[in-house]
Amino acid sequence: MKIPAMEQTESIHDVLCDVCGESTRVEGYGLQFGTLHASWGYGSTHDGERYEVHLCEPCFFRTISGLRRECMVNFMFSEEDKDLSDFGRVARDDFFNDGGTSTS
Ligand SMILES: [Zn+2]
Repeated sequence: MKIPAMEQTESIHDVLCDVCGESTRVEGYGLQFGTLHASWGYGSTHDGERYEVHLCEPCFFRTISGLRRECMVNFMFSEEDKDLSDFGRVARDDFFNDGGTSTS
């Protein structure tokens, strides 16, 4: 949930976690949150529906952990040995967010 600032400019003052309601602002470092989003289109069961869930760091990693567990169960009896230690991560040491999506 994005909380707009009371100024005339369209800036985001804070983003509250949609799961626990905590602020995602880290004092001195700005907003730190993850986003789960989807825009379902033609051919999908949820055609025309858009979803956006903002998650604080603990809730994000709890969600990732749940998905990883589900993935583990799905591939439990498969031949291939799936490495799930970096499940969902697409970059590492990307401190300036130049390899990922911007959240600012
Ligand atoms: Zn949270």
